[in-house]
Amino acid sequence: MVSLQSEVVSELRSKVKGEVLLPGESGYDAARTIWNAMIDRKPAIIVRCAAVEDIVHSLALGRDHGLLVSVKGAGHNIAGNAVCDGGLMIDLSAMNSVQVDPETRRANVAPGATLANFDHEAQRYGLATPLGINSTTGVAGLTLGGGFGWLTRKYGMTVDNLISADVITADGILLRASDQENQELFWAIRGGGGNFGVVTNFEFKLHSVGPEVLSGLIVFPFDQAQDLLKKYQEYVDQIPEELSVWAVMRHAPPLPFLPPEVHGKMVVVFPFIHLGDIEEGRRAIEPLRNFAQPYGEHIGLQPFTAWQKTFDPLLAPGARNYWKSHNFVTLSDGAIEALVAYAGRLPGPQCEIFIGLISGQANRVAPEATAYAHRNIKYVLNVHCRWEQPQDDTRFISWAREFFNATASFATGGVYVNFLTQDETDRTQAAYGANYKRLVQLKQTYDPNNLFRMNQNIKPSL
Ligand SMILES: Cc1cc2nc3c(=O)[nH]c(=O)nc-3n(C[C@H](O)[C@H](O)[C@H](O)COP(=O)(O)OP(=O)(O)OC[C@H]3O[C@@H](n4cnc5c(N)ncnc54)[C@H](O)[C@@H]3O)c2cc1C
Repeated sequence: MVSLQSEVVSELRSKVKGEVLLPGESGYDAARTIWNAMIDRKPAIIVRCAAVEDIVHSLALGRDHGLLVSVKGAGHNIAGNAVCDGGLMIDLSAMNSVQVDPETRRANVAPGATLANFDHEAQRYGLATPLGINSTTGVAGLTLGGGFGWLTRKYGMTVDNLISADVITADGILLRASDQENQELFWAIRGGGGNFGVVTNFEFKLHSVGPEVLSGLIVFPFDQAQDLLKKYQEYVDQIPEELSVWAVMRHAPPLPFLPPEVHGKMVVVFPFIHLGDIEEGRRAIEPLRNFAQPYGEHIGLQPFTAWQKTFDPLLAPGARNYWKSHNFVTLSDGAIEALVAYAGRLPGPQCEIFIGLISGQANRVAPEATAYAHRNIKYVLNVHCRWEQPQDDTRFISWAREFFNATASFATGGVYVNFLTQDETDRTQAAYGANYKRLVQLKQTYDPNNLFRMNQNIKPSL
């Protein structure tokens, strides 16, 4: 652990509007605690920034003292890169304002805002942009990796809706990045993660969504999983882009619309959302409802903000988590067989296999148009391994790795950068795909000394 002289700390305290926290001080442990309880790192100093200038001063400290620097948005990243051991943590979570202009249909979003903060403000005007499926996730980290969720089929990846960003680069300069200014930087931050600087503002375009949407869950018995998934992948080829349906295999939570005897049983769940005309939506989900005899369903109009929180109880912070993820262009019979075989042996009741449907507008953008490169994929598969006790780490992690290996031959080899765990540095290039080389060149330009390396790191040379 680096020990900073007290004058250095005092000087920083005199310059910043936010809090400067040292080990042992009140607030230090709360600030270094993130979503994944597997991560327990202790920075030498944490700056809880309250203003853009605080970030500039913090970066200067990091540079001048050769500190390892980490940047925290909402602290959701599975790899835990928001927190470093023995270095400087720049905590942006208190800077969480969201300003919506309903006239221009644009939102300016501060770097600590969560999806809930965003949706809350935008939905006052019936507006939204594609974000993720868990409302406590940070807009910043999600956007910088590409970002996808329930609106992606209709409106593309999160980065496809980014109009501009303000970025403080490694030398402490604040740049506006957009299609008009610093275009290469703008390209790089749309999928290249936190490698190029600290983003202090994200400007998004917004779309009419809700405020009420037809959405819900249809829950089927797991013993029909193979047949259900085959029907699912045929069905999603035909549905309108207003409809998004994902697939989840897990033990049934105690949902009130399920008979008590189903609680805890293995199930296949199809969560869906339909944007637009309600009757069209009801017609579009009819085939899905008739895949088989369901255990139960919960379908209806509900506020978009409520739908965005549907999975929050299953993904609450504080548990131990390990993920493995693949991209798929199709779900072949072999892939489905392997998925179902492993789902039948989930190592714990909180674990699940999640199949997110991307496709639609996200596939119409050229792979080289943004740093996010995976424009041909239809499904992102993620196994969420989740448990409570450290003594179970090996069992859960081994199962996830075994599952990953068994399904790898059916996948593209690419991976969503935001789903990589801390031990997957060998997959970094696969995450940036065909755009890796250009990202390396831009890293040389914007961060030649690799100040921003607590991330899925792009090194400044090949
Ligand atoms: C339960 C759960 C559900 C998820 N669901 C989805 C989903 O549906 N769709 C999806 O696309 N992703 C999803 N994700 C992944 C999510 O996109 C990433 O975890 C993302 O990194 C979270 O952003 P954050 O700001 O909360 O993360 P943090 O952990 O705070 O930050 C992650 C990294 O982003 C970089 N970073 C953060 N803020 C800045 C900034 N202002 N400037 C520069 N770099 C910065 C840093 O390198 C940092 O290490 C989910 C994650 C979880 C845990």
